[in-house]
This record gives sequence, C-alpha cells and structure tokens, in this order.
Amino acid sequence: MSNVIHWTCPFCDRDTTLRNGDYSEDSAFLKVDNAEGYRSLKSQFIVCPNPKCRKITLVVTLHEAGFSRNQWRTARQLLTWNLIPPSKAKTFPSFVPQVVIDDYNEACLICDLSSKASATLSRRCLQGILRDYWKVKPGRLVDEIDAVKDKIDPITWEAIDAVRKIGNIGAHMEKDINVIVDVDPDEAELLIELIETLIRDWYIAREDRKKRLTMIKNIADSKSQAKQQMAPQS
Ligand SMILES: [Zn+2]
Repeated sequence: MSNVIHWTCPFCDRDTTLRNGDYSEDSAFLKVDNAEGYRSLKSQFIVCPNPKCRKITLVVTLHEAGFSRNQWRTARQLLTWNLIPPSKAKTFPSFVPQVVIDDYNEACLICDLSSKASATLSRRCLQGILRDYWKVKPGRLVDEIDAVKDKIDPITWEAIDAVRKIGNIGAHMEKDINVIVDVDPDEAELLIELIETLIRDWYIAREDRKKRLTMIKNIADSKSQAKQQMAPQS
C-alpha cells in the first residue's frame, strides 16, 4: 500500500483516508517445489479510522511468487477472499427494507464465485426497490424501469438505462428477472454499484431529508411557543 489511501469502510460506509497506522500487511510464502509454482499468501488488516466505528476488515489474497535478488517476492494476484466482512457488501441502515438488503447482500456474497447468480439477485433487488420505493405496477423489469422515467432525476434514470444497455444486461433485463443469463464479472459489479447508489440516493436521502425537516419544524415550534409565553397576558 502507498502512504495515504482513499477507502470506504464496509461497516460504517464512511469515505475515509487510511494512513500507515490504520492497516497491517503480511505475506507467507510457499517455498516448496510443486506443479503450479511458488505462491504467496498476503493478509491485509484494515482498522476503520472513524472513532465511532474502529471495525476490522480482513482481506486475504493468493499470488504467484518468485525468488529474485536474494528475496522472495510477490507477483501476480490469483485469488481474493474477503474474510471480514465476508463480502464487499456495505452495511445499510435498518430503514432500508429487509428484502432489498437480503438480495443485495447475497448478490455481493456470490459475486466472486458466480457473476450470473449475482446479477440475477441484483436484478431482483432492483425490481424490489422500484416496487417498494416507487410503487410501480409489477411487470417485466424493463417496463418497471420505464415506469419511473418521469419520476426520478434524469441522471439516475440515464445510469439505470446505461447499465441495462451494456453487454448482456441489455438483453436479459428485457426478460423475466428469474431467467439466469451469463454476465461478465464487471457487469455484475456494476449492477451492485448501481443498487448501492439507488439505496443512498433514495432511501437514505429521503430519511436524511425527513430528519432535517423535523428538526427545522421542532425549532420553529419551540420558538413560537416561547413567543406565546412572552406575550403579555390580557
Ligand atoms: Zn467504519
């Protein structure tokens, strides 16, 4: 790792900067001759710098390895395991519907193993969001997306539209969401990112707005009460 790294904590979802004291890396080497070549196993612990969080993230990666200039060295990365938390899924607040969270978590969990299983869950999750948040009439996903076109901000709609047009996603979003179709790992990740953005922009933004407005209303109420109390009694 370089000295300062931008990082988003999977537990508190805060964008933050990691410094030297926030992470710890180690490598173990397989130095035994074998059919596949030397290997190294790298562990990376990160402790969230947010004082209210301080949770541990642990990722382990397997690499090709070699001995050169008197030293064992780590080369190309072969496999990645997200051990803590068990997937790249972000932790979202409890006011986001549980069915949406369940599909999203499973889509993240299966993403490295099966892009198509992950994309299937992501599409179901997207459909769950459209039906719950926008109350669209249940139908084919493609029609449900069209149904929100005039309700949501144009940039968001263009993003959903762009994701459904690329690669295979374009083809299978037209079909029933339970049809399992091959997708690339990139496309599966893009779907997950889209869902994270929609959860933030819709559920979380709505809740924040509600909180701000309630606070303003409470302040206004207490001011007007104070004024009434100060008014001369007749
Ligand atoms: Zn955190």
